[in-house]
Amino acid sequence: MTDTTNRRDVLKGAAVAGLATSAAPALAQAAAPVDPQTKYTDQPFAEQRQKWPALQREMQPVPDCGEASYRGSGRLQGRKALITGGDSGIGRAAAIAFAREGADVAINYYPTEEPDAQDLAKLLRAEGRKLVLLPGDLTDQAFTTGLAGKAAKQLGGLDILVNNAAYQQSKKSIAEISFEQFDRTLKTNLYAMFWLSKAAIPLMKPGAAIINTGSVNSVDPGEELLDYATTKGGILIFTKGLAKQLGKQGIRVNMVAPGPIWTPLQVAGGQLPGELGKFGQNTPLGRAGQPAELAGLYVALAEGGNSFTTGSAFGANGGTGAI
Ligand code: NAD
Ligand code: MG
Repeated sequence: MTDTTNRRDVLKGAAVAGLATSAAPALAQAAAPVDPQTKYTDQPFAEQRQKWPALQREMQPVPDCGEASYRGSGRLQGRKALITGGDSGIGRAAAIAFAREGADVAINYYPTEEPDAQDLAKLLRAEGRKLVLLPGDLTDQAFTTGLAGKAAKQLGGLDILVNNAAYQQSKKSIAEISFEQFDRTLKTNLYAMFWLSKAAIPLMKPGAAIINTGSVNSVDPGEELLDYATTKGGILIFTKGLAKQLGKQGIRVNMVAPGPIWTPLQVAGGQLPGELGKFGQNTPLGRAGQPAELAGLYVALAEGGNSFTTGSAFGANGGTGAI
């Protein structure tokens, strides 16, 4: 089965209407409203497991990051954005949206995710967009501290930073969380965000935006996600605290808090074995979300229009979240 066919599987019958909702505002107004319950598949996902970090291109079905649907309208024309975890899932949806809104984009990802990164590069470069690839391990302090400067150099500046990469391993009990897992989860989700933000801020000017990816776990910890939820709570407070500091520099800091979204992180240990069939089924919308459904939030928080919005968190969780 080809990637395209898989993607078609994800888009249910209402695919055409789904495309129309992502179109430029004038077109969207003319389009029929789309039922969010049936916009994407509500079928239980087949149990599947990949070695960490999973590749999006090998998932069944392949997540929809807006490859065929996102239409830009110049909302980020000329902006320079760095997105961590931009190869796949939610970060990839943000990368596609930013690029199609006119931004020059750099993505970071773990080196073994090169196939997903190359798929994205092929897609965006064929459209005449700029995509800078900066692979490297975010748990490496020296690499991460240098990442902001590398992105700024290759993009010709930096005014949007999306701290989106994360490590998530589900374990039933604290007894099963190893010191190594705890350390890696905190290094990836919290330390890297701190290192990268600290290096990026001096490169940013008034009007710049930082967007952190939190989670419903930021305020309502999943029982099997103790270490991960601890970091996500930290990301919410970091967002609010940093927003207070950076207001004086004209830099806004906000957070997106996703609920259950169909992405690689979930098939590389993000869920307990045997649980993928239930993933997203208990949301009021009756299904898991797709990364493409979050792209608009990242664009809205990056662009200048929402200039009074800082220190805030915005959910995308199908109705399940406390944010
Ligand atoms: P994903 O697997 O597509 O993205 C996570 C990315 O993190 C990977 O692609 C990888 O590039 C990056 N990463 C992890 N460790 C790294 C390291 N050491 N060095 C460099 N890169 C590293 O999955 P996703 O679900 O799109 O995750 C994006 C964000 O969304 C994460 O912050 C995650 O916590 C958050 N989130 C996801 C869900 C969900 O249900 N999928 C729910 C809430 C929050
Ligand atoms: Mg990935």
